[in-house]
Amino acid sequence: MNRIWERRLSPFMDIAKTAWVNRDNLGYAWRILTGGVCDGCALGTDGLRDWTMKGIHLCWIRLNLLRLNTMSPLDPALLADAGPLKERSEADLRKMGRLPVPMIRRKRETGFRPVGWEEALKLAAGRIRQSVPHRVAFYLVSRGTANETYYAAQKAARFLGSNHIDNSARICHAPSTTALRQAIGYAATTCSYRDMIGSDLLVFIGSDAANNQPVLMKYLHMAKKEGTRIAMINPFREPGMERYWVPSAIDSALWGTQIADAFFPIRVGGDIAFINGVLKHLIYHGWADRDFIDRHTEGWQALKDALDRQPFDDLERCSGASRSQMLDFARMYAKARTSVLVWSMGVTMHRHGTDNVRAIANLGLARGMVGRPHTGLMPIRGHSGVQGGAEMGAVPNAFPGEAPVGEESARRFSEVWGFTPPTSRGYYVSEMIDAAWREELDVFYCSGGNLLGVLPDGGYVRKALERIPLRIHQDIVLNPQMLVEPEDTVLLLPATTRYEMAGGCTETTTERRVIFSPEIPGPRVPEARDEWQVLCDIARRVKPDASSEIDFTTTRQIREEIARAIPSYAGIERLARQGDQFQWGGPRLGEEGRFATENGKARFMPVAPPQFAAPEGAFLLTTRRGKQFNSMTFAAKDTQTGSSREDVMLSQEDMARLNLRDGSPVLVRSRTGEFRGQARPGPLFPGSVMMYWPEANALIGRASLDPECGIPAYRDEWVEVILPEDNREGSRAKDHAAERVL
Ligand code: SF4
Repeated sequence: MNRIWERRLSPFMDIAKTAWVNRDNLGYAWRILTGGVCDGCALGTDGLRDWTMKGIHLCWIRLNLLRLNTMSPLDPALLADAGPLKERSEADLRKMGRLPVPMIRRKRETGFRPVGWEEALKLAAGRIRQSVPHRVAFYLVSRGTANETYYAAQKAARFLGSNHIDNSARICHAPSTTALRQAIGYAATTCSYRDMIGSDLLVFIGSDAANNQPVLMKYLHMAKKEGTRIAMINPFREPGMERYWVPSAIDSALWGTQIADAFFPIRVGGDIAFINGVLKHLIYHGWADRDFIDRHTEGWQALKDALDRQPFDDLERCSGASRSQMLDFARMYAKARTSVLVWSMGVTMHRHGTDNVRAIANLGLARGMVGRPHTGLMPIRGHSGVQGGAEMGAVPNAFPGEAPVGEESARRFSEVWGFTPPTSRGYYVSEMIDAAWREELDVFYCSGGNLLGVLPDGGYVRKALERIPLRIHQDIVLNPQMLVEPEDTVLLLPATTRYEMAGGCTETTTERRVIFSPEIPGPRVPEARDEWQVLCDIARRVKPDASSEIDFTTTRQIREEIARAIPSYAGIERLARQGDQFQWGGPRLGEEGRFATENGKARFMPVAPPQFAAPEGAFLLTTRRGKQFNSMTFAAKDTQTGSSREDVMLSQEDMARLNLRDGSPVLVRSRTGEFRGQARPGPLFPGSVMMYWPEANALIGRASLDPECGIPAYRDEWVEVILPEDNREGSRAKDHAAERVL
């Protein structure tokens, strides 16, 4: 099928496929869609509606995730031998069905056998009691995870004396929350989605909403109708951000919507250099908003001084963009009275991810694009649970309300909780794995997640997991990390979905909207339990004398405590029915130039572009998502690009230089590992290689992290492109037998 038609028809094919795979439970599937809050990305819904537009809010991500909620339990006998299961992919394991009952596997046993809840909880509590707090760690995935789960989990961890709690949201946007808190005092998007529609200019930096937040494309379609212009700054010219067919808008479904008006190609990691060049132009031409800067910010002179020390020649070299391209963008931005700057993981997943976000904040503040209608800074989120994860305190460096871990916050929380939480920072998830490698973890509780697939260097992660005496995996389905050999014991605990949680639950969206998702009547996995119940139960068994300090019995009680613990969440205790919601901080943060910093002013923070010393013949690897949700892939082909997951994309220039043809087999090699795929030409910045994530994890070094947040630099690795020996005749790609350059 022609690719344009494929892209146009894909949403309708997804609807048909969803109806087919959910045919045994169609009524329940429909009730989830119409009554629940989507468990996909963090745009947020109320059933099939939202608070931004009148039409239907639905996309292929939600449709593909739906089966996770409607599947029947698998037969426990299928887990009796873990050997054959290890050969299966994550997608195949997921399709086997819901985890039915608690199961246990001991060292040297071939597989899992059912165990009663009582025995499982007793075992978990006993091991934690025998251990010490700094050898116990907790990790939560963010897909579908409710605020109540995060809150109870972090409280249970701290009740047990450990700050080793982390969640997958931090792996995506910790640089955004860190830098925004420093710049404006808020670690969140400053505006509402509605502000995008009718804004003069939307700028997407390292963001592919077409693949990751599909309904946002409908908002962009509406924005275009209101005259909004859209610019893209990216190393790859994303097809979905150029032209998109919104299935529920008739004109767009028929003819497509032209999305981007201007594309500014930069090299991988060139964001800071490009933005600094733009800032220099804004200053030189007098296009900065001096009134806003003088009244509402500090640090402008220091920023100007730093930019004076960065000549355009350097900025051109580091960004890959010319001085005149920077001027073109600066002119476009200066003409806009209102603008929303949107960014995503193309910005954050670098060693200098936090500096990247500081540069974006500088750009926004230089023209006062915060706190007014149709302006804003928007780190767009991927998982339905991500905004709430940090705000509920399920992170190692902050308590609820993002209060920094330390004596002062601990004192405040001891008044709310009745016990004093630990005061030193806990492990980030990559540090948990390092601790496991050093045999310094005794118990590791994972709610969802597949760290084997998500973290770089899966071989290292596997060996580290194999060294933890007790691993507890609570989830709704089976995944590969559960099958890692036990050092002593592995427990599998069946979890409920968000739609099964008695008393309902809440999520916080990218635009800070706290939405109530009610319990949806339907079939249940009788033995499945909410994660918050299990964690609180284990905690009470470990310290029975203090059990009254963590005695939640309903999600409503948890919401009541959240309202007391986090001032900005006051009102969550009143959410009780479908459609109930509020937006913490209101539609916009920073209104009238008032920021949540100590002196109320926003801060410019000078940043220098990273210098790249490319090893001879090496390429900078960047990663992308296809038809997938986080590490869950739904199709072998990326609808937007037409590429397969083994494809290795290079620029036309690099393909020609290396004498590669479309489909030539190539070996991609880094210091960490190798990957075999086929070369494909694409609109990619020369000198880069783009591959699909998580497949590309095989090449990414575990030591490659943003030092301020500890998140892996998934878009920041040097690789070689090698033609396999039997195909190298006539090619100028690196000779397979040649000496390594990395
Ligand atoms: S765009 Fe996001 S919130 Fe909306 S339906 Fe799709 S996955 Fe759900």
